[in-house]
Amino acid sequence: MPLALPATIQKATLSKLAKLGIHNRFDLILHLPLRYEDETQLVRIDDLLPGIDSQVEGEIIHAEVAFRPRRSLICQLKDDSGILFLRFLNFYPSQQKQLAIGKRIRALGEAREGYFGMEMVHPKCRSAGENTPLKQALTPVYPTTAGLPQATLSKHIRSALNDVELSDTLPAPLIARLKFPSFADSVKLLHNPPPDIDAAALLQRSHPAWYRIKFDELLAQQLSMRLHYRKRRKLSAPQFTSHGHYTGALLKALPFALTGAQQKVWREISHDLTQAHPMQRLLQGDVGCGKTVVAALAALQAIENGYQVAFMAPTEILAEQHFLKLRDWLEPLGISPAWLSGSLKKKDKLAAIERIASGDTLLAIGTHALFQSQVEFHKLGLVLVDEQHKFGVQQRLAMRGKGVEPHQLMMSATPIPRTLAMSYFADLDVSVINELPPGRTPVVTKLVSDARRDEVFERVRNACLEGRQAYWVCPLIDESETLQLQTALETYATLKETFPDLNVGLVHGKLGNADKASVMAAFKANEVQLLVATTVIEVGVDVPNASMMVIDHAERMGLSQLHQLRGRVGRGAAHSLCVLLFQTPLSELARARLKIIFENTDGFEIAQQDMQLRGPGELLGARQSGVPMLRFADVNEDAALIEIARNMADEMLRDFPDTARAHLQRWMANKPDYLHA
Ligand code: ADP
Ligand code: MG
Repeated sequence: MPLALPATIQKATLSKLAKLGIHNRFDLILHLPLRYEDETQLVRIDDLLPGIDSQVEGEIIHAEVAFRPRRSLICQLKDDSGILFLRFLNFYPSQQKQLAIGKRIRALGEAREGYFGMEMVHPKCRSAGENTPLKQALTPVYPTTAGLPQATLSKHIRSALNDVELSDTLPAPLIARLKFPSFADSVKLLHNPPPDIDAAALLQRSHPAWYRIKFDELLAQQLSMRLHYRKRRKLSAPQFTSHGHYTGALLKALPFALTGAQQKVWREISHDLTQAHPMQRLLQGDVGCGKTVVAALAALQAIENGYQVAFMAPTEILAEQHFLKLRDWLEPLGISPAWLSGSLKKKDKLAAIERIASGDTLLAIGTHALFQSQVEFHKLGLVLVDEQHKFGVQQRLAMRGKGVEPHQLMMSATPIPRTLAMSYFADLDVSVINELPPGRTPVVTKLVSDARRDEVFERVRNACLEGRQAYWVCPLIDESETLQLQTALETYATLKETFPDLNVGLVHGKLGNADKASVMAAFKANEVQLLVATTVIEVGVDVPNASMMVIDHAERMGLSQLHQLRGRVGRGAAHSLCVLLFQTPLSELARARLKIIFENTDGFEIAQQDMQLRGPGELLGARQSGVPMLRFADVNEDAALIEIARNMADEMLRDFPDTARAHLQRWMANKPDYLHA
């Protein structure tokens, strides 16, 4: 392998490099500095400004170890303009030697006003002769790990810069159009910036050299995902003519008309299904916008053509809701879906598997149990995946290879900001429902401190006594499922005691499925007025009569999660209320989150702000495990670059396939799976 690290590097160093994600010489090239030190000039001590990193040179005229207020080494450094105090709280004998009276040194650090005058705390010191030359470039400071000194890292990076092939992997006409510096110039500049460079631009990563690196990274991401997309497009899939006898019948039977946005995405999906290559589409929209009915229509178009459909959801509760809803909708059309989940009794499971294998049912609904190896579809034509972010790319790949290449429709519960959709979902076509069904009354959100818990109890009681229903969402406890369960049980006990006049139910992740189903059914039927729940109700639960929700310890929840939860109410015509109970004092992040959720109802806006607050990780969920993550570019700040990279990737794959390969090879060498997927 041409880019392997030099054989001369010691084992111990290799393992430290590996810790930094450095496995080959190209990784060394991309190990870019965190910041820089300026050792290219000297400042006179008299001219030092507080708060600014500077380098001075002089002679040590005083050195002592003080013991109060704590043990420290205090030196005085003198040049011909003045005296600077140097202080070290931790120091080694070797440092003491270097800083002995009479020694000439250079000290680099942030000057500040000390008790005795200007001082530097823990400056970087090096011995200097009369004529030690100044550095010609800024000194990079690299992210490193314990036991790997900057100097060692620097040495290896410098030698990689000398012998790794850095020629450009962007086609010349495209670079010219973008006016980016070359790749080689960019990395060389970032590792070795000239003294007169715009240092702020370097730090903020807004220097053209940074743009070039970020662009190359984004381009590699786009190329790999678009390549994936194009490969799937070359596969053949069954074509589903839109006959309309089932879809038309469902549309007629529904108690509502599709919104304009639903109609639009339905047209897009319906068209995809008529094509001879597999659909690979992401359907997204805010909580409650009505994705399920669109999925049902897609299923019917496949069924009209005699093909099977698999509809998969990540949790039993959600999968079961889909099953019940689709059964209601489709049974009148003579279609009887099969239900398959991991927790079915063996006999029932085998029966379901048999119905699927024989083609006796054209619609199978369930959890990921649907995609276990013993399930063989008779004639699978379409895969519907709800809450796709809960499934990794791996699972998506597993769904293929089941004989015929099926069409795929992924659904997302959480709205995905545009830049995120454009980068991490570049292997999919995207349909967006940007409108809620009419007749929804916006949910009123209240932030209430835990000190006013009693008032909240009263409101819950009144709402339930007026015939409405409420959720009480238990606190999220990150570290421990056991604790979470315990809290749920305690909350349930307390609320039962607080509301002897109400029927209180409890649903949590550890409950057996039959119990879970019966609690949910009782809640749906209004036999239970107050449902105590863990976040298992986060996704998909649909009980229109429930118009109040209390979220306990809301400060612990993520924004998207709060938005999802709140989306469980406000589904009927009644005025709905969501109370976010919080514990004081609030951390700054928690305060920011609660403010956003209080001020916004639009899920896209919330997702955007969430991404700004916490980065894309949470929104991506499991997906990121198989998708090349971004190290340099930022989905919040580099939207413009993402857009250009997206367009250029398609152009490159079409017109410059060899260069595209070379670029991928350079950037994705460590991710061979993705490269060849
Ligand atoms: P989500 O997009 O969050 O999955 P659902 O598909 O669960 O939303 O739909 C939420 C609720 O809105 C369901 O009760 C559904 O039947 C209803 N619904 C869907 N489309 C419409 C519409 N066009 N008009 C009125 N109600 C609708
Ligand atoms: Mg849904």
